[in-house]
Amino acid sequence: MGNEYEMFKQFLLKQNLKFTPQRKSILDAVFATHHHFDADQMVLILKERGNEISRASVYRTLDLLIKSGLVNALELGNSKKTYEHVVGHKHHDHLICVECGRTIEFDDSFIEMLQEKVCDRLKFLAEHHSLRIFGKCERCR
Ligand SMILES: [Zn+2]
Ligand SMILES: [Zn+2]
Ligand SMILES: [Zn+2]
Repeated sequence: MGNEYEMFKQFLLKQNLKFTPQRKSILDAVFATHHHFDADQMVLILKERGNEISRASVYRTLDLLIKSGLVNALELGNSKKTYEHVVGHKHHDHLICVECGRTIEFDDSFIEMLQEKVCDRLKFLAEHHSLRIFGKCERCR
């Protein structure tokens, strides 16, 4: 078990929520999925893993995972939310094409450093961040 279990447990504890077997199954599946996914895909992934969990429950747990900082939600401009886990994954940010929905991952140490500087200046203790730049990808321009 990785650090994400302890982190999620602590988070749930603070919210007076239980680390139920269902929540654990969702956490397992989310951390076994190393690409972007939406809630419907997660329902299917869980099914393949032998867990029949309703879309509503998956949704609620994903929301908790976002609040705990373990999962990142990417608003891709369409109605579907796309998720990915952040802990145990190399940090990256996203370029999102508003035409075709393609996401391009990037990691730029200069941008990261600038964000730290802003936080320092405003005496803000950062926990996590998600930078999304919306526009048109090379194919859609
Ligand atoms: Zn970043
Ligand atoms: Zn595009
Ligand atoms: Zn990503």
